[in-house]
Amino acid sequence: MLQLFIPLNFLGFVYRELKKSLADTARMFRLMDIEAAIDDAPDASALAGRRPQIRFDHVSFGYQPERRILTDVSFTIAPGRKLAVVGHSGAGKSTLARLLFRFYDVNAGHISIDGVDLRDLQLASLRDAIGVVPQDTVLFNDSIEYNIAYGAPGAQPEAIARAARLAHLDGMLAQLPHGLDTIVGERGLKLSGGEKQRIAIARAILKNPAILIFDEATSSLDSHAEQAISAALSELAADHTTLVIAHRLSTVVDADEILVMDEGHVVERGQHAQLLAADGRYAAMWRLQQREAQAPIETDVSPAGA
Ligand code: ADP
Ligand code: MG
Repeated sequence: MLQLFIPLNFLGFVYRELKKSLADTARMFRLMDIEAAIDDAPDASALAGRRPQIRFDHVSFGYQPERRILTDVSFTIAPGRKLAVVGHSGAGKSTLARLLFRFYDVNAGHISIDGVDLRDLQLASLRDAIGVVPQDTVLFNDSIEYNIAYGAPGAQPEAIARAARLAHLDGMLAQLPHGLDTIVGERGLKLSGGEKQRIAIARAILKNPAILIFDEATSSLDSHAEQAISAALSELAADHTTLVIAHRLSTVVDADEILVMDEGHVVERGQHAQLLAADGRYAAMWRLQQREAQAPIETDVSPAGA
């Protein structure tokens, strides 16, 4: 009896130890993963330029090794210039922004800023230099002021108010009894998609980063609000190096270069007029959106959103 009892007990011990060590190993790998992404190279440099040049050089990438998302993407955004990326949903547009922010590293090729590979830059200085107006803005359960000032610690009230004005939030603020002190988010005032985007735009204006990324930044605005905001965004982009990911082509007309992406490939590139003249995919997308813009009433009254 005793003979049998000991080994079983011992086996239980071994099993528990093994399980614990597996859990520890998993945790260790997780930690290593995080540190591998965040730890700077010993000689990593800080990003300093106010109007940096951004370069994607033959970049290929997949979130999983077996499924490639981007194939051989190359472009250069000259200092202070604006590059636009258009294409169907799932083409890989937001992935470009995630790579630039270094959420992931490329599988092949290089991304560099002012000639320095992202992997040789201090991650904090890279991220400090980038302002993103994302597709979906998540707000904190705090005041509008806090939400605008997030990312710009120590911002002065006048600067916050100015950013709110430039993002066309002043109309909404004037109707709120507590103005900028109004609490928003899950447990506060619910804002529309467009209002949230304006807060994200105000946040970017206040942060005033060297690099701006607009990821379908005006997609939840109606076309009237979009026109008003677009003017503010163009003004903001004027002295920044800007990457615009756009659904509505009206926001890319003035870009220095437009890339048309499809399934992770750049299939067309050029300026608006050149792409119209080329009469390819961009021209077809443009014609389609022009038709839609000219027939809003027809679309509105059609039954069940047909
Ligand atoms: P777009 O912005 O052009 O709509 P994305 O760059 O967001 O496209 O996505 C490109 C492709 O990558 C899509 O097929 C999407 O499903 C896939 N994808 C996006 N994010 C992830 C992720 N975190 N893990 C795995 N696949 C992803
Ligand atoms: Mg996207």
